Amino acid sequence: METLIKKAQTTHNLTKEEIKALLDYDGRNDFLFEAANEVRKRFVGDDVHLRALIEFSNTCSNSCLYCGLRVQNQEIERYNMEPKQIIKIAKHAIELGLKTIVLQSGEDKVYDTETLCEIIKEIKKYDVAITLSIGEKNFEEYKKLKENGADRFLLRIETTDEKLYKKMHPAMNFENRMRCLHDLKKLGYEVGTGSLIGLPEQTTTSLAEDILFFKKMNVQMLGLGPFIPNPQTPLKNEAGGSFELSLKVLAISRLLLPLANIPATTAMETLSSNGRRLALNAGANVIMPNFTDDNYRKNYNLYPNKNGINVSTKESFNDLKKLIIAFGRTIGQDKGNSRNVNDQQTYN
Ligand code: SAH
Repeated sequence: METLIKKAQTTHNLTKEEIKALLDYDGRNDFLFEAANEVRKRFVGDDVHLRALIEFSNTCSNSCLYCGLRVQNQEIERYNMEPKQIIKIAKHAIELGLKTIVLQSGEDKVYDTETLCEIIKEIKKYDVAITLSIGEKNFEEYKKLKENGADRFLLRIETTDEKLYKKMHPAMNFENRMRCLHDLKKLGYEVGTGSLIGLPEQTTTSLAEDILFFKKMNVQMLGLGPFIPNPQTPLKNEAGGSFELSLKVLAISRLLLPLANIPATTAMETLSSNGRRLALNAGANVIMPNFTDDNYRKNYNLYPNKNGINVSTKESFNDLKKLIIAFGRTIGQDKGNSRNVNDQQTYN
């Protein structure tokens, strides 16, 4: 394993079989995590970039089998924040010093493109970056959002195994999700994708293919996290993904995409009390503190116990910063743009 890891650390390339061998290895993974940590430090430095997450709506017309926001779930109260309210939360985060606002929601037509553009324009009056995580749109819609100030877009492919994708997303279409990612690249967004780790029937071969897909797409951001079974979904009795496997996928992704921005995701923090620190020490360089008001947040339940890091007050935000410094890291002071420039020409 050490030879493989050293190869990845210097060449940033591995074959599918080599990635699978690393994922299947059941001994200690310290050497892998240390190598990923070294590559992270060498390529993107010690800064941890903080992104303010605002979950502005939980209404959704999709039926993703794993997700608590799926349209069939009648056990949660649905909400759509008013644009004014979204802007107010964003301003609060900006006052605390955050330089990136992430707007995330389920997928429906409650907010038309014009409304979204108004919200973006208002927030862009301050010198910050905006990341959208609002699902599938058409090229024209993505284009308008970009023209009005959106800088980045997160859209996980969830799994590159087409058969599994179809099973998990009965109302959706794999080709369209791919089309979205290519459109976003073409439009010059910083693009983020990623996978759910430990979906039922997902194999390590398929996870190896996911990692090679991230590399081929040369994405700027990667969101990776364990699948956590939600009791309000059809997958409630499934096993769920392991923390260790998720950490390995994160570490190998860092070795292969040295310049990517990779968060320690909320799902990783949910599975292990030490999850944030372990992820930061295995390749992650981003944290996305949650700024959604508690009364809404409790209904944005993708999966159970999704608390996220609550930093709605200055004190809690300062505590988070102190913790990062105690981990031996520094706080990113700028927007934390990706150093991996979107080579959009390749996609035209
Ligand atoms: N509608 C947007 C945002 C989805 S929510 C979109 O489609 O991009 C953000 C992410 O939460 C999803 O991409 C999915 O990977 C994750 N998620 C949903 N349900 C989950 C679960 N049960 N366990 C872990 N992560 C989950």
